[in-house]
Amino acid sequence: MTPFELQELVEKISLEFFDKPFQHKAVFNARLKTTGGRYHLNDHHLDFNPKMLTQGMEVFIGIIKHELCHYHLHLAGKGYQHKDWEFKELLTQTGGLRFAPSPPREVKVLIYQCQNCEKCVQRRQRINTERYVCGACRGKLQYLDTTIISLGK
Ligand SMILES: [Zn+2]
Ligand SMILES: [Zn+2]
Repeated sequence: MTPFELQELVEKISLEFFDKPFQHKAVFNARLKTTGGRYHLNDHHLDFNPKMLTQGMEVFIGIIKHELCHYHLHLAGKGYQHKDWEFKELLTQTGGLRFAPSPPREVKVLIYQCQNCEKCVQRRQRINTERYVCGACRGKLQYLDTTIISLGK
């Protein structure tokens, strides 16, 4: 999803579920760690956590609705905080998510390949290929690549 597509999606959901236009900016913010999105009271823009896209569109749209509840209630001068009944009611009406699911945990792994049987092994840390050999055939291991894997929730 591009930033432009994000903006369009937020505008579309705003009209469809809130009957009001979204007239500010919606942007991706990769620095958000545990939250799915954030509404900024000062300039009314919305931040979205790009990692939440990995949770599927249904979840992501639920997050957009949640942030739009803050947005529209705040601009209308109504109770826009989680504890306010107006917020709870609008969230229920629009089908927004109460809490964003925690993003999947990711770890960096190093991939080694056996030069004899070509079996690949993953290790969290660098290994000494002089000492460690292939578990299947005892062949020599060679460093292949470093990658990021998801451990799920
Ligand atoms: Zn919130
Ligand atoms: Zn091997």
